[in-house]
Amino acid sequence: MKKIKNYINGSVESFSKEYLPVFDPSKGEQIAEVVSSNNKDFEKIINSSQKAFYDWSEITPLKRSRIIAKYKEIIEKNIDLLAALVSEEHGKTFDDAKGSVTRGLEVVEFAIGIPHLLKGEFSQNVGTSIDSWSIRQPLGITVGITPFNFPAMVPMWMYPIAIACGNTFILKPSEKDPSCGLKLAELFSEAGLPDGVMNVINGDKHIVNKLIENEKIKSISFVGSTPVAKHIYEHSAKFGKRVQALGGAKNHLITMPDANIEQAVDGIMGAAFGSAGERCMAVSVAVAVGDIADELVENINDKAQTLKVAPWTDEQAQMGPVISKEHKNKVINYIDKGEKEGAKLILDGRNLNIQGYEKGYFVGPTIFDHVTQNMTIYKEEIFGPVLSVVRAKNYQEALELVNNHKFGNGTSIYTSDGEISRHFTTNSKIGMVGVNVPIPVPMAFHSFGGWKESLFGDHSMHGVEGVRFFTKLKTVTSRWPDSIQKGPEFKMPTN
Ligand code: NAD
Repeated sequence: MKKIKNYINGSVESFSKEYLPVFDPSKGEQIAEVVSSNNKDFEKIINSSQKAFYDWSEITPLKRSRIIAKYKEIIEKNIDLLAALVSEEHGKTFDDAKGSVTRGLEVVEFAIGIPHLLKGEFSQNVGTSIDSWSIRQPLGITVGITPFNFPAMVPMWMYPIAIACGNTFILKPSEKDPSCGLKLAELFSEAGLPDGVMNVINGDKHIVNKLIENEKIKSISFVGSTPVAKHIYEHSAKFGKRVQALGGAKNHLITMPDANIEQAVDGIMGAAFGSAGERCMAVSVAVAVGDIADELVENINDKAQTLKVAPWTDEQAQMGPVISKEHKNKVINYIDKGEKEGAKLILDGRNLNIQGYEKGYFVGPTIFDHVTQNMTIYKEEIFGPVLSVVRAKNYQEALELVNNHKFGNGTSIYTSDGEISRHFTTNSKIGMVGVNVPIPVPMAFHSFGGWKESLFGDHSMHGVEGVRFFTKLKTVTSRWPDSIQKGPEFKMPTN
């Protein structure tokens, strides 16, 4: 059985003898085990990260950038290997996994140019012969705790920026698919990253709490479910940490009667069922406005019938399994509940059987029509291939649905009316908004983050927000001795 250890100070190792199982979701079989790190692993990693920080923070930003530029090339060369590691343990299709590594790679590309964003600001003569400037300095040891659904991309939202800014970084990947995180760190060493600048520690919530409580760690970046994000935010704040904690989602896509229906249907299909609905930017609610509803539902249903659900090794696969047996049961329970609470089940993915993969955690595409605001399937995040269609009388009603929901990660509108689109982008209470785009995931040089219960903390991830999060601001005011007037001043200096 493959054993997945930690990455400490440039080598793969661990002391703990306790392991957690890792499964192939397509087959429903255990394929590896990942170490559940103990105190000795933890102490070693903290010491390594602390020691590495002194030198790394002193290296010039340009030298750091050169290592990151080399890393970009190495990832490009290894992209198939990384994508296969993602698919094997997560179950998503190979193309989808490759796309997710590429989105992470874009953050690496962005990080190469970070010296530009570390330049600071300068004001000459803020007082007579007095100059003032602001600089951004690294924090120290930074930590990233990441979810199962993007084992490459989400860590890559964090560590390229943290490291480019002069910090050291400890990654705690999801225990469900940890191999890719480890490989990403190994490849960074190959690019010339000094030992200890990026370490990986494996384990579950026990190790997370130890990381949060350790005084040498200065910041926590978290992505995962909302209850855990909230706990991480509160617990980290108690221990004086800077924290960004991204949570769950329930993203609505509004289709207006004047929309290009074909585009809207394609958009909904990919966004609802891609990656088996296990994306924080997945569309789980399609809001059909006015008399477009029947046609929209019919077309989505027709297309969903032809969707190929298969293991990632099948090149024709459009959608894979969900992550675990427990999660499959959870998704099925939600479908049961949707039926009981009166939503109209148009397409039922509960009894999908794939020959040769009978034990795999597959759920077929599922569509509910006539879903209402009081139903559990509308209120909660399902994180599976289950689409709820809600019918709204008009745009105003659709906007209220978006704004009244507790989650605020992403949303989108399909329309050919510029005025409606402008009203929507201005007035929707959501962090990431699309117009005729189903999944409005910001590029690396913008920042990723939701509102409401989808993000706790002040900073989104990557882009300029990432640089602000991973640096602290210092402002210096300076006067040279020759210009200093004699004698103390007791009133506030003014100019
Ligand atoms: P999760 O919250 O169960 O786990 C995330 C991480 O937290 C893992 O590393 C896990 O080991 C750790 N963890 C779990 N329980 C913990 C606890 N009680 N205390 C401390 N640490 C704990 O999330 P998941 O199931 O891995 O991922 C799916 C969730 O992530 C979904 O809700 C999805 O919407 C969300 N997500 C959000 C975004 C975003 O950008 N907002 C992106 C990706 C995923």
